[in-house]
Amino acid sequence: MSTTRGVFIGTDSGATTSKVGAVWADGKTVSTKLLQRPTNAQNGPDAVIQGWVEAISDYLQQHQLGWEAVQGVGLAIPGPYESYGVLGRSANLPASLAGWNVHRDYRQALAQAAGHAIPLVMGNDGMLGGVAEAAKVRGAEKCSVLMLAPGSGLGSAYIDANGLPLEGDTLAGMETAHMPAALHLLNAKPLPCGCGRTWGCIEPLTTISGLPHLLAEKLVKYPDHALAKSTATPKEKALSLRGLAQKGDVLALEIFDFQARALGLHVANLCLALDPHYVVIGGGLMDHEATTPEFRERYLGVIRETASTYLWPVQRERIKIVSASLGDLSQAIGAALTALYQSHKS
Ligand SMILES: [Zn+2]
Repeated sequence: MSTTRGVFIGTDSGATTSKVGAVWADGKTVSTKLLQRPTNAQNGPDAVIQGWVEAISDYLQQHQLGWEAVQGVGLAIPGPYESYGVLGRSANLPASLAGWNVHRDYRQALAQAAGHAIPLVMGNDGMLGGVAEAAKVRGAEKCSVLMLAPGSGLGSAYIDANGLPLEGDTLAGMETAHMPAALHLLNAKPLPCGCGRTWGCIEPLTTISGLPHLLAEKLVKYPDHALAKSTATPKEKALSLRGLAQKGDVLALEIFDFQARALGLHVANLCLALDPHYVVIGGGLMDHEATTPEFRERYLGVIRETASTYLWPVQRERIKIVSASLGDLSQAIGAALTALYQSHKS
């Protein structure tokens, strides 16, 4: 049992599965293997907290560590929040969890398990995933990183040169998914968005959420495509596009080229505000286990080319647009790293 090596733990809470990862005090990852457990959100707050604490106990045991080694914990949990630490109403969690002060309850449970107070930081999963990807991409360089991860929604994060995410006053900062897109440059009309805004949010243009609409529009051009006759649901058809694109299907490739152009404009828009050194693109299309290098390079290439037109000349040379590389690890490790960085500040 080591008492000399401090460890920082990250809890990544998803709607169904929670994961544990950790870093040492020097920022190195303890293990590239995460421990995974059901979140049990349907059983209420106490069950969720108990699950998280037990998962940390098991993780510590697996690595021959005790609670006395734990110097900080980070929690990645999807927003929105009512205030720091208090969950708002989320589409992915039971309504009964809205208004829950998860920060207060988790901190108390951690103190009880450890026998000493443990600092707890929290942030949304996209933000903290960005912290880990930023640490990976920049290595020893002191520079800032923009991360965009299109999946079911569009995760966004800006990580400053000290490694910490831009949060805003209520953790709602860098919620770029619902910024308006330059629709005229895309020759597109505003798509419906889950947030209710009608100004043409970028999210449905770049993520799975808008794929059924983009596909329906495309099928007008390709009425003989197999998907025009398919009896699958719109969601199933949308999810089949990634696989079709890998096989060179023209309709699917045109849709992802469109999404890449939309994301490229969003990248340029955000670079004007943030001036980062790296832009990391994550999400399902950059998943190294689900897409081919050729597909990823095509997608990134369109993003780079589109963004480049709208950047300042100096930025065109300097800003690097690259693929994310941590996959599933990023959010738990990012939560642990944020706990570590915060310990340096306090
Ligand atoms: Zn929106």
